[in-house]
Amino acid sequence: EQATEDIRRSMDSMEEKSAQLHIANREAMESSRLKSQFLANISHEVRTPLNAILGYTKTLQKDIKDPQHRLYVDTIEQSTNSLLAIIGDILDFSKIEAGKLNLENNHFNLKTIVDDVYQTLSIHLLTKEKQIDLVPDFNSDVPEWLIGDSTRIRQILTNLVGNAIKFTHQGSVRTKVSMTSQANQNITLSFQVIDTGIGIAEDKIHRLFKPFSQVDTSTTRQFGGTGLGLVITKKLVEQMNGHIEVSSAPGTGSTFRFSLVLQVSPNPPTQKPALQR
Ligand code: ADP
Repeated sequence: EQATEDIRRSMDSMEEKSAQLHIANREAMESSRLKSQFLANISHEVRTPLNAILGYTKTLQKDIKDPQHRLYVDTIEQSTNSLLAIIGDILDFSKIEAGKLNLENNHFNLKTIVDDVYQTLSIHLLTKEKQIDLVPDFNSDVPEWLIGDSTRIRQILTNLVGNAIKFTHQGSVRTKVSMTSQANQNITLSFQVIDTGIGIAEDKIHRLFKPFSQVDTSTTRQFGGTGLGLVITKKLVEQMNGHIEVSSAPGTGSTFRFSLVLQVSPNPPTQKPALQR
């Protein structure tokens, strides 16, 4: 009889614990939802004045004569752009956490996007006086026109190629693109962003895709950044049904490999005819 009573008591206590756990779980979910909502609101509120600063800075730049003043205003522009990038990362991260990062579909030319990303990032080579060869490298099997979220694909490439340039002093940053499979309209593309930079220590690699985990605080101070770039990159890749992985050798360089599942555009937009003379 005592045994039955013990069992009953322990079952009651288990039920009570399970109810408590349920409440705690619901509270944790609610608090996480509120946090994401708060981050999203703050990001939005901060963006508006930053865009105003950027707009007026651009207007001022037009009539500056004094080189010293030009330097000041250019610095305001750069810093504002950095802040907008940080806010953009925080907003994306909060959307990911809330499961609200939705992809859009549009027709785009992949080669143009990769070339654009390289072109935009090549400015860092001039300002930092680096000697790096930037090499976009397309396999001939890659279809030119695709359907997918071109803005997010640009973001993935900007993060990875941007990091590769940031952490490379000399050599090259190469992006290889090839096709690994095709089934009707669906294709899987494989990308490799290969740099000859400082590399990443083996014991640090597993932390790379975890939030706020810049590998090394000394590089953070030296290079800046939120530590969210790779977390967002991984989520975006996974949302496009792909995978991402990294291999690296300190002192020799790093390779980030990722795949994306996209669609081939059945009717690519017609190219503008060449200018008639
Ligand atoms: P952030 O946005 O701050 O650059 P990331 O998530 O993009 O953060 O990168 C996190 C950290 O991973 C970087 O601070 C750097 O230490 C390391 N890292 C990323 N890419 C490379 C690379 N190509 N070479 C060396 N280290 C890298």
